[in-house]
Parts: sequence; structure tokens; C-alpha cells
Amino acid sequence: MVGLVSFAGEILCMERYLWTELSPEGVVEDIKRAIRALLAAHPHYRPKMMGATIPGLADPERGLWVEASFSGIRELPFASIMEAELGLPVKIDNDGNACAKAERLFGCCKGADYFIWMTVSNGIGGAIFINGSLYSGSCGNAGEIGHVIVEEGPNARPCKCGHSGCAEMQASGLGIARNYLSLGGKPEIDGEPPNARTIDALARTGDKTAVEAYELEGLYLGRAIGAAVNLINPQKVIIGGGVSLGFDLFWPSLSKTLETHVYRNANPGLVVEPTALGYNAGLLGAAALCFSK
Ligand SMILES: [Zn+2]
Repeated sequence: MVGLVSFAGEILCMERYLWTELSPEGVVEDIKRAIRALLAAHPHYRPKMMGATIPGLADPERGLWVEASFSGIRELPFASIMEAELGLPVKIDNDGNACAKAERLFGCCKGADYFIWMTVSNGIGGAIFINGSLYSGSCGNAGEIGHVIVEEGPNARPCKCGHSGCAEMQASGLGIARNYLSLGGKPEIDGEPPNARTIDALARTGDKTAVEAYELEGLYLGRAIGAAVNLINPQKVIIGGGVSLGFDLFWPSLSKTLETHVYRNANPGLVVEPTALGYNAGLLGAAALCFSK
């Protein structure tokens, strides 16, 4: 997604792209082409800065795209490449951090100094705000809530981090699809392998297995969120990413799990809710990077 955002957080124009290039050069060329097309179509806007959200690990200080699991990208100096292309200052950060900043600037965390952001899509990422600032950790990797272990035993799936039963393996969009199948769901929905979107739609028709898959989703998310809440004592936990569109489906089970996992008297005003930014969280996140110090 490429777009122009005003300093008030208003999206002036945007285009969605399906990025297909996987080589570092191809990814950079695709992005440059998309930006050139957007600027050519809207010549009356004169952007002052560029922000970019990075899938994978990023080093915002050095402007590096450190690693992407889907491509051979390693230590790519993305910010300086784009600065040379556009003649503008460029800020980058990973997707979760950027979305958390956008939620605080434009979404439901205005005025919240302590909150946890979770992206639940193909993977699970997270970010932590403490004292009104993003908390990065000793190596910049704080907030990896996707690697909190939420399942043990035969149902725990191995994760790329080396452990098994991580939230990312059990409760991401891919996790929902695998849970649905292991609960005895149909191998195809509308002619394609099940995914979070189609299982969501099926659950809304009352399909028992799809409903159970979303109940399991609430249980797994509740275990991860409960552990994080007891540690951080946030005002809010915000859930974004494609799976958050099924928030109402997993909320009863998530809420029940939080009752048994969160130290209630220590977290009396806790709010857990879906992002206020919807599908635009990533684009607004990129813009939010430009507004931060
Ligand atoms: Zn893991």
C-alpha cells in the first residue's frame, strides 16, 4: 500500500499493490515505481517526508531493513536508497511499532501512555508503549508477543524461533486455518484451502467447526495477552491485522480466558479492543513515523 497522508492523519490518496518481486532489487524497484506513479497522479501534493513500515526486522536508527522472512533481504539500506530517489527524509520501522505509533496519534490510544499493540495476520507481531514512548528492549526486539508459548503437548506446532506452541503458530491467520482443519473442518471452502477470512465468514453462518476454531483463537490470544498484561500493566491492548476483523467472534472466549489469566486487582481498568484504524493501520503507521522525534 502506498499513499499520501496529511499531518492531521487524513489519507489524501492511496493505492494497494500486490508485491510479487522477492529479490532485494526487485522489491526496491517495485516500491519506487509505485511511488512515482502515485506522485505523477497527484502532482498538486508535495510530500515533505516518507515513512515506510518494514515487514520483518528493521533498524530505524541506521535506516536498515535488517531481514525479511519472505525474501533474501539482509541489511538493506532502505532509507538512504529512498532518500536518494525522492530527495526527502525517510523514516522506517517495523510494522508493529509503526502501527502502535499510529494508534497513539490517530486511533484509540490517544492519551494512553501504556498500551500493547498486536498485529494478528499471517504472523503475530507486537509493540509496547511505556511512559508514552515505544519500548524497544536491549536489542530493539521488545514486543515479540507472537513467541509467547500458548500450547504444549501434541497440539503445539513447531515455530521458526526453535520452540513449539508459540502464539504465532497457534493463533495467527495461518494458525486459525490449521486449527479449523485439526478440529475436522472442510479441506476447502468455496474451492480454496480454508483461511481466516473464509472461516470467519463460515462461523457467521453458525458452522460449528468454524465457531470452535474462533473459540480456540480466543483461548490462545487470551493466554498470550494475559501473560503480557500481568507483566506490563497496560491501560489497553489493541488487536490489529486481518484476524482482528473477527474480533466479535473470538471475544467471548478471549474475555473468558483473560478472567482466569489476568491478575484483575492489579489491572482493574484494562481494555482489550480492535484497532480503530482498520485496514489503514499500516499506511497511517508509515505516516506516524514521520511525526515522531
Ligand atoms: Zn516462536
